[in-house]
Amino acid sequence: MTKPNASELKSRAFAEVDALRGEAVAIAKDLHAHPEVGWRTQRSADLLTDYLEKHGMFVEKAVAELGEVSDVDCSFRASIPGHMGGGVGVALLAEYDALPGLGHGCSHNLIGTIAATAGIAVRRALGDVPGNVYVMGCPFEEGGGGKIYMIDAGVFDVADVSIMWHGSSDVRVGSPNIAASGMTYTFTGKSAHSGANPHQGINAADAAMLTFAGVNALRQHVTSDVRIHGIIEDGGVAANSVPDKAVVRMMTRAASYKNIERVRERVHDCARGAALMTGAKLEIAEDPVYAERLVVPGLREVVIGNLGLVGLERPDGDPQTFASADSGNVSQYIPHVTFNLPLDTKGSVPHTVAFAEACNTGMAWDALVTAAKIMAASAIDLILDPERVSAIKAEHAALKG
Ligand SMILES: [Zn+2]
Repeated sequence: MTKPNASELKSRAFAEVDALRGEAVAIAKDLHAHPEVGWRTQRSADLLTDYLEKHGMFVEKAVAELGEVSDVDCSFRASIPGHMGGGVGVALLAEYDALPGLGHGCSHNLIGTIAATAGIAVRRALGDVPGNVYVMGCPFEEGGGGKIYMIDAGVFDVADVSIMWHGSSDVRVGSPNIAASGMTYTFTGKSAHSGANPHQGINAADAAMLTFAGVNALRQHVTSDVRIHGIIEDGGVAANSVPDKAVVRMMTRAASYKNIERVRERVHDCARGAALMTGAKLEIAEDPVYAERLVVPGLREVVIGNLGLVGLERPDGDPQTFASADSGNVSQYIPHVTFNLPLDTKGSVPHTVAFAEACNTGMAWDALVTAAKIMAASAIDLILDPERVSAIKAEHAALKG
């Protein structure tokens, strides 16, 4: 067999993406019009898996082994039939969950459709060339950490590297982000009449407020990368009754997941101290930790190398972002790159109404097509060059130290 030519395969993939445009846009619009949140995103996952199967991809469903966390599993992994286990494996990350009250305010309607479209295009372009793409259907990114369960279940073990797109206001390739985790403190006290017999009550709302007092004192003594922010989700029902239950939702962010673990323990101590001061009982529930995104320069260059093919210029540099995502956990496991293309955000940032509107415009459909082409071309470069993939993996291992 003669060595396959990268630019030939890329033009084949680009023609496929153009041919899929109508169908892909219809799916992205449909996802936008029917947002689903949390783990319950079956309709959204089905739209994508139907699309993948229709175009010849092999789909495995419910692969995340969610165990106790959810009774429904809307994860999936799609791959090119007959290509399993041979050559380079490239994961293309799909997301499809929305935000409560906001709908698709984080561009996941596009993220899912882009990964699926790129996967189909690579299948058609590759023909018999060894190598595979894995469209990873990653559920509940917005707080659930779906990818973390998929990593633990071994779903990513077939892939050497991973690529993902995200909506933004400019072109970026490989922006670093930070680690994050949430926790819930449930205080149980004892109700009593606030005027007649308050001495017999145990005030759970006081425990909640003292937790915040402790956290506010802690802020001076953490490194400057750390963010701690929270709300009182439940602080009692009536001002004339001693609250016997209070719930605090707190989040921590830091430059590294190792720092998160340290800070989180100190925040727990604030809650423990508050429980001791008030006599309330405390229950602590921890969310999974979203790790910071590792940026592997060699993999970043693969994506940058394809920007010119769609008429884009190399970005000047990548600003640090202070959001967090579970693609960070993927980036700790295998080399990963997230790239961004602009949407008509009108200056807005993700998780806002204006950003949700930007995920449903003509500019969004153009971004969908352009992103799918960049993703497909980058996957083709990686599949055709196993030595480059080995160098990227070595770079990743060195970064992890
Ligand atoms: Zn988001």
